[in-house]
Amino acid sequence: MARKFFVGGNWKCNGTSEEVKKIISILNDGKVASADVVDVVVSPPYVFLPLVKSSLRPEFHVAAQNCWVKKGGAYTGEISAEMLVNLDIPWVIVGHSERRLLLSESNEFVGDKVAYALSKGLKVIACVGETLEQRESGATMDVVAAQTKAIAERISDWTNVVVAYEPVWAIGTGKVATPAQAQEVHLELRKWLQTNVSAEVAASTRIIYGGSVSGANCKELAAQPDVDGFLVGGASLKPEFVDIINAAT
Ligand code: PEP
Repeated sequence: MARKFFVGGNWKCNGTSEEVKKIISILNDGKVASADVVDVVVSPPYVFLPLVKSSLRPEFHVAAQNCWVKKGGAYTGEISAEMLVNLDIPWVIVGHSERRLLLSESNEFVGDKVAYALSKGLKVIACVGETLEQRESGATMDVVAAQTKAIAERISDWTNVVVAYEPVWAIGTGKVATPAQAQEVHLELRKWLQTNVSAEVAASTRIIYGGSVSGANCKELAAQPDVDGFLVGGASLKPEFVDIINAAT
């Protein structure tokens, strides 16, 4: 089953409105493959979502970087899935390792968030990935499977889910996984989906790689059969993001 290439840009907690306008103009002027070939989703901080949504080329979409785990209410500082839907924001990133590690988001909490966001009609980029210590102790697949299981136990429809495999040791470090390392985990993850969810979900769900992806390394990674795209942090704020969008073409 053909899986459309997917490139997400996670701007994290960066930018001023002037900087955001500059990034938008780079993206809007970039020569990119058609929307039939690649899905592009950029994820600015919440406060810039309306600006980005209104000025970005129409074939690119926007994502929030997080949302609350249930219906809004007395949760100071949080943003609900309903609010994102109300603003016509189609995507949300859930379970980024920075939130798992810095804000102690557990597998179960992330799974609950994925389920709630999907139930409100959002599409979800669900992040999984191991730390360096976990990799070195041989626990990579156990960790990634446990993170994915907590999602799988809470959802029945994977149509609107993209899984982002993001080894923590590769995020923001400049130490990108080798194409073979990425392919190995993506393949294992797909096998896990086949065994624990269904062959159809395993074949159709996009598994994208994140962790120090750049214009220089994206083509080799994109050539791996189970790498269906990227979630890009640092390089999504730079002109090379356009090259990454075109990595599979
Ligand atoms: C990320 O934060 O999702 C990420 C992959 O960051 P970077 O590309 O900077 O490693």
